[in-house]
Amino acid sequence: MAVPKKKTSPSRMGMRRSHQALSAAAHADCANCGELKRPHHVCSHCGHYDGREVAVAGKALKGTVRA
Ligand SMILES: [Zn+2]
Repeated sequence: MAVPKKKTSPSRMGMRRSHQALSAAAHADCANCGELKRPHHVCSHCGHYDGREVAVAGKALKGTVRA
């Protein structure tokens, strides 16, 4: 079994963990209703995308065919 030659110092551990922070998930305001939505996705609140309604508002978007 491979064994580390030296004990990892608190400084080394901190340097490694400095890259582990989580970033906030991407979000944007819907131009139609102002609700938060994912960028480049149909708004799940009003069903609008790119200035027009492409899905029935309030319904589950999964499996819907684009108009
Ligand atoms: Zn919307």
